[in-house]
Amino acid sequence: MKVYRTLVVRRKIEETPPEKLVKFLEVQQKFREWATQWYKSGFKVPAPEESPLKYFAVELKYGMRLIPTNGLKNGVWRVPLPFDAQLRENNERDQSRGVLVDLSRGDIRIRKWGGGTIEIRLRKSEIKWITQRLREGAWLKLAYAWIGHTRQTNLVAFNLALVFARETEQYHPIRIMAIDLNALHNGVSWGVVDGERVIRRDTERPDLVRVGKLQKEISRLDSLCAERGGDYCEKAREAKSRLWRLLRRFEDEAAKRLVELAIKQKAAIVVDAPEDESVRELMEGNYTPNRKIYLNIGRLRRRIRELAEWYGVPYREERLYSTVCPRCESRMEELPNRKVKCQRCGFKAPRDKIPLLWAVRRFSELIQPPSFSPSPLLIPVS
Ligand SMILES: [Zn+2]
Repeated sequence: MKVYRTLVVRRKIEETPPEKLVKFLEVQQKFREWATQWYKSGFKVPAPEESPLKYFAVELKYGMRLIPTNGLKNGVWRVPLPFDAQLRENNERDQSRGVLVDLSRGDIRIRKWGGGTIEIRLRKSEIKWITQRLREGAWLKLAYAWIGHTRQTNLVAFNLALVFARETEQYHPIRIMAIDLNALHNGVSWGVVDGERVIRRDTERPDLVRVGKLQKEISRLDSLCAERGGDYCEKAREAKSRLWRLLRRFEDEAAKRLVELAIKQKAAIVVDAPEDESVRELMEGNYTPNRKIYLNIGRLRRRIRELAEWYGVPYREERLYSTVCPRCESRMEELPNRKVKCQRCGFKAPRDKIPLLWAVRRFSELIQPPSFSPSPLLIPVS
């Protein structure tokens, strides 16, 4: 089975010469206009004749399957510009593809878009990421570039997504790792189930003290920004992006730890995530804003899924109830200290353990291979 992982290389807009930026935006705009018509016509409108739009149209057809078909937004398909790509490790011949990722020189060159070459210096962390993928037997398949807002800070950035592919085989699991993503503000509780027994359980939490401090800082700066403006607004924005990075690092590290442990235990991962609907209800409900940030579980779920697929860990999403009694299926009531008690049979346990007991009960069903459909690539294009 072929699986994919994406590295998004993101740079401040100021790092690209202004005349190239203007030209790139123009090409992006024109291509999106054609792609939108193509999309609306059910992919029947003919490809453009002139370059570079012709080149992008060909690449789009080729890479379509790997693009997030997030559909039309305000009547426009915000498709990124698709490039064929080459990765050069040593001194291989330059094959004149649109994107050349040159590890020996430590840079990326973006060409064939009609405005010369855009060069990006690779950061050490990016080189490390790419080298690890190559060691795992992956290859660079294609690339997407776009200029757009980043979601968290709303700043405009130049973005390049490098898509790597790899062949992988899923292993046959002998255990189950159940991960409960229902209440991130209490941490991500998980456990490993071996047939009848829960052999390990723990909770992953971000640094709650630091998160709390940053949140206080942000609300202080936000009110100063409203009163006096200027520097305070900039500082508020910086503090927000620090908080965002802190949570992101937590998500990345937690996903990595969990998937590594699943591999070691030869476990299938079963994620219990709330329906989008119930998350929305919580978001609209009377949760304080400081707790709402923990409800952004979508990214963590995608990270776990992406890593599991990449390393051949069987993965599925199932509801594992934490308020339904695993003995008699009656409703359980919440006690203080995050314990729950069955109203009918009196069974009592920590709330975090209930999903694991459901995993014990459903073990033989959950360990079966899931009906698998590869997830689409999720590149946050805006
Ligand atoms: Zn019961």
